Amino acid sequence: MEMRIGGKDVSSPDEAWIEVKNPATGELIDRVPAGSAGDVAEAVDAAAGAFTGWRKRGMRERGMILFHAAEKVRVGQKDLARLLTLEQGKPLREAIDEVRGYANILEYYAGLSAQPAGETVHLGPAGDALVIREPLGVCGTIIPWNMPVLIMGWKVGPALLAGNTLVIKPASATPLTNLHLARILDEAGLPPGVLNVVTGSGGVVGEALVKHPGVKKISFTGNCITGRRIRELASAHVKDLTLELGGSDPMIVMDDADISKAVEGALRGRFYNAGQTCTAVKRLYLHEKIADEFVQKLKTRISAMNVGNGLGPKTDMGPLNSADQRDRIIQMVDQTRDHGEGTILVGGGILRGKAYESGYFFHPTLVTDVAPDSCLVLEEVFGPVLPVMTVPDLDAAITAANQSRYGLGASVWTKDLRTTKRVFNEVQTGIIWVNRHLTVPPEVPFGGNRESGIGRENGYHALDQYSRTKTLFLGW
Ligand code: NDP
Repeated sequence: MEMRIGGKDVSSPDEAWIEVKNPATGELIDRVPAGSAGDVAEAVDAAAGAFTGWRKRGMRERGMILFHAAEKVRVGQKDLARLLTLEQGKPLREAIDEVRGYANILEYYAGLSAQPAGETVHLGPAGDALVIREPLGVCGTIIPWNMPVLIMGWKVGPALLAGNTLVIKPASATPLTNLHLARILDEAGLPPGVLNVVTGSGGVVGEALVKHPGVKKISFTGNCITGRRIRELASAHVKDLTLELGGSDPMIVMDDADISKAVEGALRGRFYNAGQTCTAVKRLYLHEKIADEFVQKLKTRISAMNVGNGLGPKTDMGPLNSADQRDRIIQMVDQTRDHGEGTILVGGGILRGKAYESGYFFHPTLVTDVAPDSCLVLEEVFGPVLPVMTVPDLDAAITAANQSRYGLGASVWTKDLRTTKRVFNEVQTGIIWVNRHLTVPPEVPFGGNRESGIGRENGYHALDQYSRTKTLFLGW
């Protein structure tokens, strides 16, 4: 598959290629060009050329194109989901959820296009002011491999509706669905050059995009180290930034919680997408009165999980996306075991057997009695490993929840409104769920505090992040 610049498939014959492999089998699925800084410059030129025409179109017209693209995605959802499973590894059911989630996002922003925007400010004798929002120009978006479809939607929906043009750099492991979605947007009526996709490595294509003076904003989702590097590079031209850098979300279960519901919440919250989700449950804090019952029930549920190829009809959890991701998880679990930082109750290693030998499978893992300074608590565990700690009361749970350099999300499981209110006021994350975890609908802003990043995606707030105010001051 080839990259898309100016609404066309492009690639030069002397280009090097990146192979895209199925993480469940190691088989080659397709290959994409390993783009260069020159390709990025060409894409930025195409996007800059398309900007004036695109911003002049009314918001409603831009919204209609998003709406048509969403319709096409829904029609083709099965094929898109299958491709996503092939390149990313997740179970087909989750891939379908993700593709539908992408369509929901485009529809949400299409809907916002019908709402009047802007404000007037009456300043008494001084006059009146008219405040509008204008697009930023060419925006660069850098997409990770864990949820490439959904995260593309979070960026593309608000950026295009606000009137920007885009250059997208997909993750090297998962460029195929992003390229298909770009083609669908073109077919839905995007003028050539409004959305361009340059495939290639982060070090070459990603950095060239961040450094290019014609790019006014970078929206990035990925790891903290890359995020810091991007912030440094972007400062040279004082670019706008949205950085979504992951999390170590705590889940707190109090002694009045509905235990069965909370067990299901922990199971889905941790093992969805093989644990490779920024808002996954990464630390589980159980009130000591219910801890034993909870752990027993959770152990039974985890032990019954069906791990395998995402295309399998009964698969609950697929492989990790790459050997690197799997090795990182092996190393963290080995360290926990070797240093006595916790008790491994279920799993703790790679899966063995013919069905698993060519893929990056890791056993769903439950670790109890985890030390507060374990790597499983201090680092982001981007895989299917759930560390469990017990707490005597809510004070201890809140203190522990806040002991993290991340601040993306948190959940509390309780029937008590006072408990809810305390967690909402005192836990320092961008979103707090009550009796739920993981859900991120397009209507609500999403993003973290501290090292989880800068800025918000989703909701009308994201439109603000892809535009700036301009004021007309009328001194009568
Ligand atoms: P990266 O941050 O390296 O990758 C994310 C995206 O950034 C990819 O498109 C990547 O390209 C690109 N990229 C890499 N280096 C640069 C650079 N110097 N300049 C610009 N773009 C760059 O994440 P990893 O794949 O290394 O994942 C490792 C860890 O990151 C995970 O274990 C997890 O902790 C965290 N993570 C968090 C995510 C989240 O949702 N918050 C998502 C993904 C990862 P390429 O693919 O070509 O390298």
